[in-house]
Amino acid sequence: MNFDNNNISEKPVIIRQLDDYAINRIAAGEVVERPSSVVKELVENSLDAGALKIEIYVKDGGKTYLKVVDDGQGIPQKFLPMALSRHATSKIDGTDLLNINTFGFRGEALPSLAAVSHLTIKSRFTGSDLAYTISASGGIIEEVKPAALTKGTEVDISNLFYSTPARLKFLRTDRSEMMSILDMVKRFSIAEPYVSFSIKNLSHDKKGKEVFKTIQQSGKVSLALKARLKEVLGKDFWENCFELDFNREDIKLFGYSALPTYSRGSGNLQHLFVNGRPVKDKILMSAVRVAYSDFLPRDRHPVYALFINCKTSDVDVNVHPTKAEVRFKNPGIVRGLIISALKACLAEHGQRSSTSVSNGVFGAFTSEKRPSRTLQGNYKNPRVTTNSNERLLLDEKTDSYEARLDPEKDTENLSGFPLGAARGQFHENYIISQTDDGIIIVDQHAAHERLVYESLKNQLEHSGVKTQPLLIPEVIEMKDEDSALLIENSEELKKCGFYVEAFGTGAVVVRETPAILGVINTKSMVLDVLDELKDDTGIKIVSDRINAVLSRVACHGSIRSGRRMKSEEMNALLRDMEVTPHSGQCNHGRPTYVKLKLTDIEKMFGR
Ligand code: ADP
Ligand code: MG
Repeated sequence: MNFDNNNISEKPVIIRQLDDYAINRIAAGEVVERPSSVVKELVENSLDAGALKIEIYVKDGGKTYLKVVDDGQGIPQKFLPMALSRHATSKIDGTDLLNINTFGFRGEALPSLAAVSHLTIKSRFTGSDLAYTISASGGIIEEVKPAALTKGTEVDISNLFYSTPARLKFLRTDRSEMMSILDMVKRFSIAEPYVSFSIKNLSHDKKGKEVFKTIQQSGKVSLALKARLKEVLGKDFWENCFELDFNREDIKLFGYSALPTYSRGSGNLQHLFVNGRPVKDKILMSAVRVAYSDFLPRDRHPVYALFINCKTSDVDVNVHPTKAEVRFKNPGIVRGLIISALKACLAEHGQRSSTSVSNGVFGAFTSEKRPSRTLQGNYKNPRVTTNSNERLLLDEKTDSYEARLDPEKDTENLSGFPLGAARGQFHENYIISQTDDGIIIVDQHAAHERLVYESLKNQLEHSGVKTQPLLIPEVIEMKDEDSALLIENSEELKKCGFYVEAFGTGAVVVRETPAILGVINTKSMVLDVLDELKDDTGIKIVSDRINAVLSRVACHGSIRSGRRMKSEEMNALLRDMEVTPHSGQCNHGRPTYVKLKLTDIEKMFGR
């Protein structure tokens, strides 16, 4: 900054109108970030032209060459020069910016591309006997000439960013640019199941190596979409997802979302569509995140393809240059719908755990959806009144206890008990149980952690988390800002069963802890809770935060791996799992049990 006043007045001021070439290069900076954005713009144009077949050719990650070929309606000869001029579009007339039903409408893509690459369009308009071509580079548009093409439109882009070398420098390796193109095309292919897509890599040979292909789906929309999802996201996703179909106030949410146990280390398998348009909208994605927050640690990401449909006038798509984000008239409703719909489905499918886990590890193992013995809605836990882990599993002489399976007496009729009768424990961490059609292996720590967590949530919802006073209140020293943060949240923590008070500066005193946990290492738990509070997850809703804290707390109260369990304890754990929501996965989205079917075991032994 220049603070020298004298200079300011002497500086001559010239405001000048930039020429089109400069304007277009500037616009390209927003619209065309990398080769995949070129593909996005061209594919959108093809779809808007009604194409049913779109072929994409890529060389060197799109840096040197890109081509998109479609079988759409084409561009009339006389409009070819117009297509390359700024703010020229056939899609809107400018009178209504709220009712937009096409992918494009800004009239910016082609002129921007023409300013930052060598561009050639070949097109043959439906019903015309001839095809025509037009080229542009360096801001100069050449004359329209006849060309050879039987149908549709072909757009060629070479030497992308040659006129903006700064942009060129920011490109990643050919491989990662190709991955980004692939990701982009996958999103469109899910949005448009009736259209076939292919990508060929021209880097190594002229004919090109096919790196992606989908066939043209047909039939009812829902069937076409299912078939396309299987093509694009694979069989594994398909076997591990659940279907959603919800409506709220003119807003429809439908699609497929994967079980928490089928989570991924990165967020790139999250597919969101608003009125058929692929978006990467932060508000919507964070709503999904919140719905899954009970089941996934921060570094795991759910996989989904979710569609939100509403009136075009209820959502503004003109808020982002590449239309990646949208603005709803009423974002609260959409957010609420996503969270409640997903939570309801996760509860319904909570006892399924991912098949990919068992398939991957054992080949023949399956972990399947099974009916729960009690209705989720009637879920009443809690028969948990005592203050030690061991007792949680043993001290439950309620009605249902009598009805419980006694593996010693009843080995014949296991059909009423989906998780079967415990047959033994191995490596002090796994329970093996026999069901009527196979065996089940349970991770006792993971399973118990889930039970404790669900029980804590249930207590919180009903009478509040039951606490037990510590005989000797524990003083824990920590940094000033840490103790301040705990005290700031002491009301929320109280709800979770923690009574924390300030103890001078740089220390807190803990007086009560959740009873269900029994005797615990208070300090390590408080530090864990502190981590949770510090973690800025973007979860602002108090109840979700409390759940996150409870989830951490549950870890501490869980039967540790390495503890021997008696037969009654093991069976009690299995029975508890059968009536507890979400018991198919632990709080970190790992499965709590896997199932091996007898038929598969027999196959394994060649019987
Ligand atoms: P927009 O898509 O916002 O209208 P573009 O610059 O992407 O702006 O395209 C300008 C115009 O060129 C479009 O409105 C359309 O009429 C025409 N056009 C571009 N690509 C195609 C295509 N593949 N098939 C038919 N027409 C096209
Ligand atoms: Mg366009």
